[in-house]
Amino acid sequence: MKINNTTYEVVIGLEVHAQLLTKTKLFSGDATTYGAEPNTQVSPITLAHPGTLPLLNRKAVEYAIRLGLACGSSITRENYFARKNYFYPDLPKGYQISQHTTPVCTGGSLSVVVEGEHFTIELNRIHLEEDAGKSIHDADAEYTYLDYNRAGVALVEIVTEPCIPSADHAYAFLSELRKLVRYLGVCDGNMEEGSLRCDANISIRPGGDLQLGTKVEVKNLNSIKNVKKAIESETERMCEVVRQGKKIIQETRSFDAVNGTTFALRTKEEANDYRYFADPDISPFIVSEKFLDTIKKQLPELPEEKVNRYRTQMQLSEYDSRILAEEKDFADYFDLLAAEASNNKAAANWMIGPIRSWLNEHQADIQDFPLKPPVIAQLIALIDSGKINFSIASGKLFPALVREPAKRAEQLALELNLFQDSDSDSITRWVNEVLERMPEKVTEFKKGKKGLIGLFVGEVKKISQGKADPKITTDILLQKLQE
Ligand code: ADP
Ligand code: MG
Repeated sequence: MKINNTTYEVVIGLEVHAQLLTKTKLFSGDATTYGAEPNTQVSPITLAHPGTLPLLNRKAVEYAIRLGLACGSSITRENYFARKNYFYPDLPKGYQISQHTTPVCTGGSLSVVVEGEHFTIELNRIHLEEDAGKSIHDADAEYTYLDYNRAGVALVEIVTEPCIPSADHAYAFLSELRKLVRYLGVCDGNMEEGSLRCDANISIRPGGDLQLGTKVEVKNLNSIKNVKKAIESETERMCEVVRQGKKIIQETRSFDAVNGTTFALRTKEEANDYRYFADPDISPFIVSEKFLDTIKKQLPELPEEKVNRYRTQMQLSEYDSRILAEEKDFADYFDLLAAEASNNKAAANWMIGPIRSWLNEHQADIQDFPLKPPVIAQLIALIDSGKINFSIASGKLFPALVREPAKRAEQLALELNLFQDSDSDSITRWVNEVLERMPEKVTEFKKGKKGLIGLFVGEVKKISQGKADPKITTDILLQKLQE
């Protein structure tokens, strides 16, 4: 970006809150079901009534560490929780329990691909904290309603270093992070339901400067697309401020998705002082060697590892491998199919071609796809044995199977009369028909225009509706044309 003849660059750091998929809250046994009747998942512990004591959820710690290990973070062995004090109606305790000085994971990184280029985004920390409740402003004209179901739900906050060089990189980072938490089963990654929430910190500086510019934090970004749009619009606004010779002020802004612009919420002068102190009700927790080892052993294959396995062991292209590994359930289906079909390239082509088209067309996930991997494997085997060709298998047999998923592929192909004809009698009949229809072409062929063989094979294919085995067709044609 050029401002008054100087090239400027943008620097972005993201703070992402991910709701952990634990059945109960971070410090109480309250359920965490999304969309439950308001205030039905709220115990006195969540409200911090006098005499109640919080008890740490072991699963939440496990999930946070699982994510940290997948990002190559260091795991903090001695942890404690702090109280972050502030008043807000959706915070019934008057403080939020968070990890202040001992985030359970520090460092680590996530690799992204932007326009074919690999880029590493460094993480500063991943820490555990509890969520706040929800204020509902639009249910009543006069009053704000409060739903404390979400209060106390376990979150991890993933904080990147200020190292992200563009809105596209931020977009790629969030897509990659969402993919990863889903692979790991620690968060459902659903931004619309608020399971993943992102704040973007943005600054600009003259290119090459080592010092960071003044940052603006943009909150309330509820989709990955909006994060990108907000960064682009805020960067543009900052450039305009500098262009006018004014100073960027440190502030918190919000993104208005309707107008596509940001607006100021509060400035640094109004910033809170949270008076952090160690929560006296929660004893420090130690991550033991044994606990850490168990979590390490249970780590599933990660997206990048899958891509590498597809490329090196299955000899698939990087492009295909990335499409296959994009979603865990899709990749799991492919793994089952490849194991069953013993033709990796064909298995990949069926996933990326007919199956993905079907999913797109029906706006469905692979879990909703009616055919199980063995059925697609049967299709592949039919093609590999020369009984049917790919275009008939994908264009006719596949849709027929989707309508009747209980049938075996072979049985249905028989019923629909889709098998290639390798019976030389019927092929001879089609060949004769074609040659009789095209006497001039036959003469041309006999005079030396041998390339016409392709035309004849094509015609036979047409009148046989794709069923004539092309190799046998060619043999019979050559024989007839020599007579
Ligand atoms: P705060 O204490 O205000 O929350 P932190 O230093 O903890 O600030 O950083 C919060 C987030 O803001 C991190 O993701 C970090 O990378 C990012 N960040 C900090 N300074 C800048 C800056 N000047 N420009 C862009 N991002 C920044
Ligand atoms: Mg912050």
